[in-house]
Amino acid sequence: MNDRSPSPPILLTPGPLTTDPAVRQAMQRDWGSRDTAFIALTTELRRRLLDVANGRASHAAVPLQGSGTFIVEATIGTLIGPDDRLLVLINGAYGERMLSIAGRLGKSATALRWPENQAVVPAEVEARLRADPAITHVAIVHCETTTGLLNPMEEVATVAARHGKAFLVDAMSSFGSLPIDVAATPITAVMASSNKCLEGVPGLGFSLIEKRALEAAAGNNPSLAFDLCAQNKGFETNGQWRFTPPVQVVAALVEALRLLEAEGGTAARLARYRANCKVLCDGMAALGFSLYLPPSLQAPIIATFHQPAAPWFAFKAFYDRLAERGFLIYPGKLSKADTFRIGCIGALVPADFDRLLVAIRAIRDELSAPVREVADAS
Ligand SMILES: *Cc1c(COP(=O)(O)O)cnc(C)c1O
Repeated sequence: MNDRSPSPPILLTPGPLTTDPAVRQAMQRDWGSRDTAFIALTTELRRRLLDVANGRASHAAVPLQGSGTFIVEATIGTLIGPDDRLLVLINGAYGERMLSIAGRLGKSATALRWPENQAVVPAEVEARLRADPAITHVAIVHCETTTGLLNPMEEVATVAARHGKAFLVDAMSSFGSLPIDVAATPITAVMASSNKCLEGVPGLGFSLIEKRALEAAAGNNPSLAFDLCAQNKGFETNGQWRFTPPVQVVAALVEALRLLEAEGGTAARLARYRANCKVLCDGMAALGFSLYLPPSLQAPIIATFHQPAAPWFAFKAFYDRLAERGFLIYPGKLSKADTFRIGCIGALVPADFDRLLVAIRAIRDELSAPVREVADAS
């Protein structure tokens, strides 16, 4: 081990994030990718993913090797056809990323933007759909991980459905905790990955796609590896992945999904994250750190804090001293404000955040203590 801390670090950086030992343990064996045992594991994976969003009747679960961005690119590439036009709702970096993916792929796309500290406004989406009837698809980021902001996904789904538009949700940082029910909410595709609220390890993304929409999209995607119709066909034909699957990542994710069920499902997980977030935000407020977002927009996923103007604070020193104590946090990702971020998700409980706050208090005291001269020669 060449870890710099004695015990594994606490990752407050979703994601990768802190995983349960049972999830890491599930990776301690080899799997033949075309063997019946792994085929059964893949089948369980796809069924469990659909169950998280209540999608077994209507949707197909299509996993894909790679990080979350890979599945976003694959979903946009597969579902947006040559005669389609995508409206991307943007209030952070992940919305911008969907627009740039559409642009790279040569899709017709347009954007509606809000400031990074404001939620998407459904009435403005509706007005745009009226003004630009060529739009066929609408895409939103459920929880904008740039800030931790929760967008009104269900309300926008209703608007899109009323206008007969397909609706794509980047639920990367919300899937597995915030409620997403595709039987109750009209959603064409939900995109997420293994290494956020599902608490698996990185290496796999997936899209839950309405079966009708997936069938209608055959032939849209010129990419071989990113074509989700072909990827799904592989699973439907023989239960196997078309190309080498990340077998250990799949095993870890199936174990993580079993743990999600054992915890009490997404509602129980959300309650734990809310408790984490409350301890974090209350404790940080008591230490003089202020939240970037108004509390009404804050999802219990990741919290963005202003960097204090106090002379003791420098992000690098703050980060390094937290890392020495085993806590890894995230720098800010904002264009207009100096911030840093702390995740509330992963295999963590409120007591972990109590320990974090003790560490932050100690670091503040160390860094704000007057510098002592090294004059002990006497
Ligand atoms: C994490 C995340 C992604 C994907 O990021 P990767 O680094 O490719 O895994 C996309 N959208 C959102 C909202 C995210 O939080």
